[in-house]
Amino acid sequence: MSTEILQKYLPETAFGYLKIWFSSHQIHLHISRARNSKLGDYQRLRDGSHKITINHNLQPELFFFVLTHELAHLIAFHNFKNKRISPHGLEWKQTFREMLHESLAVYSEELKPEIFRFSRNPKANFMASGPIVKFFYKDDLSDNEVFIEYLSKEEIFLYKKQNYKILEKLKKNYLCENLQNGKKYIFKPLAKVEQLKN
Ligand SMILES: [Zn+2]
Repeated sequence: MSTEILQKYLPETAFGYLKIWFSSHQIHLHISRARNSKLGDYQRLRDGSHKITINHNLQPELFFFVLTHELAHLIAFHNFKNKRISPHGLEWKQTFREMLHESLAVYSEELKPEIFRFSRNPKANFMASGPIVKFFYKDDLSDNEVFIEYLSKEEIFLYKKQNYKILEKLKKNYLCENLQNGKKYIFKPLAKVEQLKN
């Protein structure tokens, strides 16, 4: 993918860092449709090249943040190639943290402290980081609204005026029980639900 196309998606200041991180790796970067299950992903292909997909509808700073997450997979696998590392294990956390620190200047002043805080113990799941999610989705989420991923197991939430309880997190989605009719429903991680104040 050419840099020209990417300019549409990324903050201008991101390119210097990307040049260093991309280095000589062969990366197929695909801009994907907006997926409800994830913002981006990383795959190592059989021929040793790398495939990264990022949703097309992310704000530039979030696009960069997600791209950094995915590139951290590539770089961690590369740097620790003699070791079996798990996708979101310590090596990935360390790599992601260093990359976030290195590129902190890309983020706006408001966001910098949150990125820094997040970097102390990077979570695999961006949605688990409340303040960053709020920053990017403040226009999408009304006051009590959160993404279901932000809630914990057993937590009760409101969706279309009905109460639900989170029973368990499946591989990606959430199995919930409607407390009115007792039926079970599957929610995607980016489902917007209303958090009940305790
Ligand atoms: Zn990941």
